[in-house]
Amino acid sequence: MEDDIDELAQMIQSAGRAVVFTGAGVSTECGIPDFRSPGGFWTRYKPIEFDDFLASEETRLEAWRRYFNIYDAVAQAVPGPSHKVIAGLYHAGIVSHVITQNIDDLHRASGVPEEAIIELHGNGSYAKCLSCGERYEIAWARAQIEAGRRPPYCSTCAGIVKTATISFGQAMPEAEMARARAATFDADLFLALGSSLQVFPAASFPVMAKSNRARLVIINREPTGLDALADLVIAGELGDVLSATAERLGRQQIAC
Ligand code: NAD
Repeated sequence: MEDDIDELAQMIQSAGRAVVFTGAGVSTECGIPDFRSPGGFWTRYKPIEFDDFLASEETRLEAWRRYFNIYDAVAQAVPGPSHKVIAGLYHAGIVSHVITQNIDDLHRASGVPEEAIIELHGNGSYAKCLSCGERYEIAWARAQIEAGRRPPYCSTCAGIVKTATISFGQAMPEAEMARARAATFDADLFLALGSSLQVFPAASFPVMAKSNRARLVIINREPTGLDALADLVIAGELGDVLSATAERLGRQQIAC
């Protein structure tokens, strides 16, 4: 592990432009369960496909009920050690962008500016009308459901209101995908952190980085499907690995 951390610190030091790609594993240290680990969301619930969400009020109510179960943990969470090191790498001018699959808004809360964050799966801190795009707060949606026992509809155009996240079967956000592609093609170092790398097309970005000759580092507590592609794989707890790496790089260089 010590050798791995030395190697990672050297790769970061020699990088011209690094991109960080994060999954649910960066936020488990903040009390937000990931999808696939034991006790994770998926082990309890089968995901609701976008078409099923659209098709019935009953399914939408079930989707909202499930979301409220995780929303309180998400709303109360604060950035953990991994978010802080990533923000430090951004402010040190090493990392240009953070591409995230997470919907918990914690990269923004850790001080990475909006223009450097690319949210591939949207943002769960608010909701949106699927027809006109009007923004709604989660508390508003909860109050609507509690008052009427119906899923919420847009006050302006009567469209269906959904968390501003991307569900299975829903189209990926085009602008975010284009920004992620551009950032990936500019990177000479790509750090994939806390992701099982099983959800596509998100997991295609590490592959794209590698085929564009970037060096690929994967840090995860368990093997991922892309380990064979990587220049360095570190199996460990993210907060520990990243904090130790920041120590190697020198706390003055990485203010976290
Ligand atoms: P995933 O659950 O498939 O993979 C997370 C990986 O992180 C797992 O392999 C797990 O072993 C590893 N991990 C967990 N905690 C770790 C730690 N402390 N140190 C090292 N490794 C750790 O999640 P994914 O790859 O992000 O893909 C699933 C989808 O789940 C994504 O689309 C994402 O949108 C969504 N999701 C987001 C959140 C969030 O916003 N925090 C939470 C759950 C799921």
